[in-house]
Amino acid sequence: MSTFLLEIVTPERKVYAEQVNMIVVKGVAGDLGILPHHIPMVTPLKIAPVHIKQGSTDLYIAVSGGFMEVGKDKVIILAESAELPGDIDVERAKVAKTRAESRLNDKATHIDFHRAELAMQKALMRINVSEKRF
Ligand code: ATP
Repeated sequence: MSTFLLEIVTPERKVYAEQVNMIVVKGVAGDLGILPHHIPMVTPLKIAPVHIKQGSTDLYIAVSGGFMEVGKDKVIILAESAELPGDIDVERAKVAKTRAESRLNDKATHIDFHRAELAMQKALMRINVSEKRF
């Protein structure tokens, strides 16, 4: 089975760099399955797990604030944050979820709902990736 190099990088570190068979990402315009020799493209990504297929293994990486660049035989995902399932502190994500929930339920006008909504999406994604619920 043919492969391509997938790199997932954040401003802090290289989170992932492996030869993979396929990835499925949530682009802003919808889900995208990327196989080897995909046409070059660039797209922003939604806050969502990146699904990686490598042989018979499936891996999900929590990615937020991401852009994907599909090149000739390499895909780079540049993200504000990216965590492997084992690197996620699920308790921290649950606290973040509760905090976002109370902000979203708050009637005060100074609440930044968009920011709370994004925090909620990140927290839910981290919990799902950590607990392998999709
Ligand atoms: P919190 O409100 O818990 O700080 P956040 O969504 O504000 O979370 P981010 O700004 O998205 O956090 O990320 C800041 C850094 O912390 C990044 O390096 C990210 O990978 C890491 N991070 C955030 N939440 C978690 C978590 N639950 N487990 C592990 N790393 C996390």
